[in-house]
Amino acid sequence: MDYQRPALLITGGAGFIGSNFIVYYMKKYPDRQIINLDKLTYAGNSSNLKEVEHHPHYHFIQGDIADEDLVTSIFTTYNITGVIHFAAESHVDRSIEDAKQFVTSNVLGTLVLLQAAKTDWEKRGELQKRRFHQISTDEVYGDLGETGKFHEATPYDPQNPYSASKAGANFLVKSFGYTYGMNIVLSSSSNNYGPKQHTEKLIPTIITRALHNQTIPIYGDGKNIRDWLYVEDHCRAIDTIYHQGKTMQMYNVGGGNEQTNIDIAKTVCRLLDIWKPEIADTSPAHFEELIAFTEDRAGHDRRYAVDDTKIRNELGWEPLADWKTGIQNTVKWYIEQWNTNS
Ligand code: NAD
Repeated sequence: MDYQRPALLITGGAGFIGSNFIVYYMKKYPDRQIINLDKLTYAGNSSNLKEVEHHPHYHFIQGDIADEDLVTSIFTTYNITGVIHFAAESHVDRSIEDAKQFVTSNVLGTLVLLQAAKTDWEKRGELQKRRFHQISTDEVYGDLGETGKFHEATPYDPQNPYSASKAGANFLVKSFGYTYGMNIVLSSSSNNYGPKQHTEKLIPTIITRALHNQTIPIYGDGKNIRDWLYVEDHCRAIDTIYHQGKTMQMYNVGGGNEQTNIDIAKTVCRLLDIWKPEIADTSPAHFEELIAFTEDRAGHDRRYAVDDTKIRNELGWEPLADWKTGIQNTVKWYIEQWNTNS
């Protein structure tokens, strides 16, 4: 490999959004080089990257973003011209059980990356030119009432250890912009859905448990609302922000698609009634019978929704997927996986 060839460092590229982004990016820019640094925790999955694993410009490094020696060596070995930082502990329920790893990976790991990038880019006289893009979440803003949306200027009010660690990381990223003049940009998106998401997350849980004829657990009354963004739309937004976003700016990215958890569960069940009736316990199939309400999650935010006027107006991005097609594609993808593995 040509070590001096410009390379984009992607962290957490074996996870849900990172892997979708790498595949999207390498299709769009086949001549560009990518280094994917991922620890392959329970959340990472190398098979998410089958489409690109043999691509001559794709390189995988298994390792921890909080490992200072490793991260420094990546910057000295390769010519890293930008970082898109996805790697994080991202499972809210796990953060409620044990927050420590969330602080280590999300806060300390981000600091290690920032320091290594700053040191290397300063040496090369490129600190203001090379870009660090922090991938964040609307969860940093906290909880919304029945109405209103989070704006980029909404004060942070994280309500679980995961979102607190993401907010901490964002503050560090911004501080490197203010203090050292680093070229940083941040984006906060709403909940993503689509292929390749870990089966612990809401939509894959609903689909896979239904496919196994197991109860579908829904927290509380199921009326919690999230804005759902199709992962490919998020990948396009990241590409746009990384290349065209203004330095030191935060961009909210939304799907314009608010759904309650219970409506999502019912939608998935109806699709499975049509596509997989033969595996249902009832005839005709009625997967909704598997839905079971459970005790609510501690600190469960009621509603999130982002105002993404800024990215729409300044960068000309808008989501293209409609919910009906997006959820159909998602359910189909998990059915294919299920068919292959069973
Ligand atoms: P994910 O959990 O699917 O993937 C995270 C990846 O990071 C995994 O491959 C994991 O192995 C890797 N990783 C974790 N800790 C690491 C460490 N210390 N060193 C190196 N690699 C490590 O997450 P995702 O859903 O793809 O989310 C990616 C990013 O987007 C995260 O920063 C998350 O906060 C953010 N985000 C996610 C959503 C969403 O709906 N999924 C929404 C908004 C923002």
